[in-house]
This record gives sequence, C-alpha cells and structure tokens, in this order.
Amino acid sequence: MHTTDRTWAEIRLDHLAHNYAELRRRTAPGCKFLAPVKANAYGHGAVAVSRHLQTIGCDFLAVTSLPEALELREAGIALPILIFGYTVPTDASTLVAHQLTQAVFSLEQAKALSHALTGSRQTLQIHLELDTGMGRLGFPVATPSIEPLEDLRTIMTLPHLDVQGIFTHFSVADLEEEDDYTEEQLEHFALSAHWLEAKTGKQIPIHHAANSGGVLRLSRSHLNMIRPGLSLYGLSPNPGLIDVDLRPVMSLKTRVIQVRDFVTDRSISYGRTYQTRGTQSIAVVPIGYADGLHRSLSGKMDMLLHGRRVPQVGRICMDFSMLHVTGLEKISVGDVATVFGQDGKETLSVAEHAATAGTIPYELLCAISARVPRIYSHGAE
Ligand SMILES: *Cc1c(COP(=O)(O)O)cnc(C)c1O
Repeated sequence: MHTTDRTWAEIRLDHLAHNYAELRRRTAPGCKFLAPVKANAYGHGAVAVSRHLQTIGCDFLAVTSLPEALELREAGIALPILIFGYTVPTDASTLVAHQLTQAVFSLEQAKALSHALTGSRQTLQIHLELDTGMGRLGFPVATPSIEPLEDLRTIMTLPHLDVQGIFTHFSVADLEEEDDYTEEQLEHFALSAHWLEAKTGKQIPIHHAANSGGVLRLSRSHLNMIRPGLSLYGLSPNPGLIDVDLRPVMSLKTRVIQVRDFVTDRSISYGRTYQTRGTQSIAVVPIGYADGLHRSLSGKMDMLLHGRRVPQVGRICMDFSMLHVTGLEKISVGDVATVFGQDGKETLSVAEHAATAGTIPYELLCAISARVPRIYSHGAE
C-alpha cells in the first residue's frame, strides 16, 4: 500500500517558499513575518509546513490553541509561537515552559494568567489584542471610552507578564470598497498603541495587523510584522488582485477505482438526483465528504482526468464520488483524477470549488481530513 493509492494531497514546499518570498518582498527591511499555521496550517500539515518555514527564515508562527502549539514544540520547532485563542489560566506555566506567547484580549484573562504564575519565577510573553472593528476578540478601543485603554495600562504593570506585542485584526482588508473602514481600524490601532506607550513610558516591541488582505493591499498596515495566511498558501483573498504571483501549495488527487458503462435512465448515487441520458461511462473515485469534499458540491463541480475537465455527477457520498467520463479515451483503474490542482494544460483551483459551494477557499482547505495523507515535495526537478 502506497500513500498515493487512494486519495492524497500534494504539498509543494517550493511554492510555499515562493509565496513567502513574494509576500516578504512587499515589506520594508526589518519587518517580521508571522506565519499562521493554525488548523493544521490551513490543512497543509502544521509540522512539515512550520519546519520548512523555519528553514527559510520565518520569524514567528501562530496557532489557535495550546495543543496545536505543543504539537509543534514536540516536533522540535523552535520558532516563537503566538496562540491567538484562549488558554485556560491553569496552563500558564505550560505556556512559559514551552516558550509560547499568549494573545490577551481581556483584563480578566491577563489577571488570571498573572495570578496563576504567583510564587514562580516565570514570565509569560503576551501580545495584547485590540478590537478596532473586527467585532471578535480584543479590547474594544474603537469605542469612545477610556476604560479599555486603562485596562491595557493595568496589564502593563502586572507581574509575571511581559507585553512583547500588540495587534489588531482586520475584517474587510481584502475589499477595496471597504478601504475607509480598514483605514479607520488602523487609525484606532495606532492611536491606542501610541497612547499606551506614551502613558507607560514603555515601548512594545512588535506591532502587527496585516492579514493577507492587509499585506497585499495596504502597505501602511505592515507595521513591524505581517501575518498573511491564505496568501502564504498560494491563494488570493481577493481574486481581483492580479499584480501578485502566488502559487497554490496544495493539490488534491485521487484515483479511479472502477469504470462502468451504464445504459440510459440509470440512477447514480444516493437520492437518485442524477439519471443517465443514453449510454454513459461513469468512473468512481474514492473521495467523499469524509475526506473533506463538501457534499454541497454534488453535481456542480468538475475534476480533471487525462488533462480534461469531467463533471462530477450524483450525490457526493462519505467515501466515494462519481465522474461522468463518456467520450474520454480509455479510463483505467488507477488513473489519477485531480480534484484541484493541475493536470496537463488544465487547472482547477480550490477557489473555483469554494465559489461553487458558496463558501471561501479557507473552509475547503481546512476541511481536508486527517485520513488524506499529505505528500511533500520540492517540485518536479
Ligand atoms: C487566521 C488569521 C490571520 C491570517 O488571515 P489570512 O486571511 O489567512 O491572511 C491573521 N491574523 C489572525 C488573528 C488570524 O486569526
């Protein structure tokens, strides 16, 4: 049994390095690069991706939870790691022991982390998160109240915490028509960070805000660290951005396991949503929603086979889906079908499938499940 016998994801580390260089090229010298590797590096495999990023000079990684961070430490990744999500205060000493950096988004959370380290000689590195308009986590500094700022000032004085960074997150930085909103977010961020530094007389070393949209569209938002995720994996957050050369890091492939000719009026798959019209060749491929192929794509998507687009027909099952291959030269068991990626001159992008499914490429990438092996390569040469 080989890992490419059934269904697999090909991960091009040379494309990852290319995208990294392409994004880094847009920043000023000295600007740090934080790579979000949460959600198993957007489905690409957090350990292998982080290891490669470490060798090509990436400065920082970010995950969403302590278990995600510990997986990287256990694999020997030494880069600083920021945890964007919540960590229970009783795990504060675990954070310190593994040199992890925690995002802090409330005074209560900061006090609890500090308190949990009482009596120890440990200091936890934290980054303060400001909510400037994302409406998710953070100190609501865009509100006309001084209270969140005073809370930030209090945190700067708490024992066992070292404020190493301050950041905010954009909600619409990918959209040109929303630039005023993003500019406003950036403005609130700059004012708050400046106020805090002036009031406390302490410089916070790292200021960051730019997700992919910010990196590609608003160079003023780069500050001294960028945090591009989707674009690092080779997808544009906005298909209108054409002056950037991003290469998809992941391709998803599977292999034909049966081909049959059906006479007319036969039903294909659950629910009988598809009937053959005339004699039709139907190929079965072993990929289904348990592999991360969204069932909502049923009957709406194409795959590539022998360098040609072929329609997927009938309901996508848990483990299988069917392709209409009538008219193609002889299809055999073992032939590779490309779900997204390149086959000859044809390319299918995960963005196209996402649009068809009414979602975003992020969701389809993260959905690729654990039973799909990731095969890493540095290209054909
Ligand atoms: C996921 C994430 C990013 C990366 O966003 P992309 O749109 O993938 O570039 C940046 N910052 C935070 C806080 C995130 O959660």
